[in-house]
Amino acid sequence: MPDQTILTPFDLVVTDGLIVNASGSTEGTVLIRDGRIAGILDPDAPLPPHKRQIDATGQLVLPGGVDPHCHVGQVLGEFSMLDSHAQASIAALWGGTTTIIDFAIPEPGQNPLQAVYEKRKAAQDTRTDLALHGGVVAWDNTTRDQLLSLAELGVLTVKMFTTYRDGVMAGFDTIEKVMEVLADLGGVAIIHAEENHLVEEAQNYERENGRGDSRHHALTRPEAAEAAAVTRALGLAASTGAAVYFVHQTTPDVVDLVADARSRGVRAYSETCPHYITLDDSVYESGRPELFVCCPPIRSATAMTGLRDRTIRGMVHTLGSDHCCYSSSQKEKYSHDVTSMPNGLPGVENRMTVSFDTLVVRGGMSVENFVAMSSTNPAVLNGLRSKGWIGPGADADVVILDPTMTKVISAKTHHMNSDYSPYEGTEFTGWPTTVISAGRVVIDDDGFHDPGPIGRQLFSKAQLDAVPLLAAPAVGGTQTMITRFNKEELLA
Ligand SMILES: [Zn+2]
Repeated sequence: MPDQTILTPFDLVVTDGLIVNASGSTEGTVLIRDGRIAGILDPDAPLPPHKRQIDATGQLVLPGGVDPHCHVGQVLGEFSMLDSHAQASIAALWGGTTTIIDFAIPEPGQNPLQAVYEKRKAAQDTRTDLALHGGVVAWDNTTRDQLLSLAELGVLTVKMFTTYRDGVMAGFDTIEKVMEVLADLGGVAIIHAEENHLVEEAQNYERENGRGDSRHHALTRPEAAEAAAVTRALGLAASTGAAVYFVHQTTPDVVDLVADARSRGVRAYSETCPHYITLDDSVYESGRPELFVCCPPIRSATAMTGLRDRTIRGMVHTLGSDHCCYSSSQKEKYSHDVTSMPNGLPGVENRMTVSFDTLVVRGGMSVENFVAMSSTNPAVLNGLRSKGWIGPGADADVVILDPTMTKVISAKTHHMNSDYSPYEGTEFTGWPTTVISAGRVVIDDDGFHDPGPIGRQLFSKAQLDAVPLLAAPAVGGTQTMITRFNKEELLA
């Protein structure tokens, strides 16, 4: 009796590429059927029956990107972000990201559960798979039950801000109570760390001295404010036993604080964003400083270099885009007053390429480490067990990336709904040539093939404790290294 599963043709086979997981790389053929990876075949084995073959000769075959930090269609005061989930997810796919993790931050009058329901409704048109972080702004006598309900809905990561008083700021007393509940649930506290009173003092001082505009943005949110909030949150994580994840870390010092806490047994994790390892505060001396206003701000060249070095050394766990889709006119309106501005940069589309160029091509980091930071670790830390790896049973989210392809980033050619790019006119190496999402080829040489609004809304399937956590692997050893000069060697 012949085995039916072998006789049924595979939907897709990806041949002749170098398959790179966080744990190592191998040559071989990726077999895809029914939206899942069915197996990996020895490179010399004869191809089984298949409907379509994609030749990845000379290219890297990577797990689809998982962007752990993406704001889509968020409304903050008078400023609405300009993209729908359809638009953001299509831009993500162009850039090799096949899973987006968005935020359900309660708006005034909303509780955390309502925020998740509303966000899930709004996200129906997503083209990528989507998961959500919940959010808590203020603790009240319903919050514990809300967090238990969120966990039942598969939301185990809860964002809290230590800044933006009168907005989304949660006091450290709230953060402590939420951490106590999350420790029991096996969830993760997601922290935006900037100590608010230090930020407000700096803002007032700079404004009084005529420096309250976007040109002086970096002065109004000092590095010390970030370090102070990270220190306090790490203390609470230690005392409550909760896992803590710091979004968008911007300085070497705060990465070191997290590393120190980890060495003392605190479950603490660092995320950074492409713009903090590629841009420095000279952008605020450019003709359009407002376009670079994000919080925390772009730091000094010294801080940026130190952060990038630690990232290359494997001390940072994940790369998030912190995607916020605004137009240049929205940014310009309050350029004279950074306290009123819409913060954030468009970035979901360029996260993979900008990081690959910076960390792997120029920085000498291994491709395995890049995969860990851009896909595997974000999946693991968010309990998305079928994401972030290529192997039998994983979702068939695959990016074929040409490590030698060089292109210029421009708002004229990107797919995000923003009329500017923080990288306008700059050349980057390492671009996706084919993107497979849930077994469908959505990007190839012919362009974008819209799968329609079929993105799944993902549920965090496991308590964090049940998932083996990957530390980002160390640089070197037998890992796949690419430099500007030895790519041919790698792919020989
Ligand atoms: Zn953010």
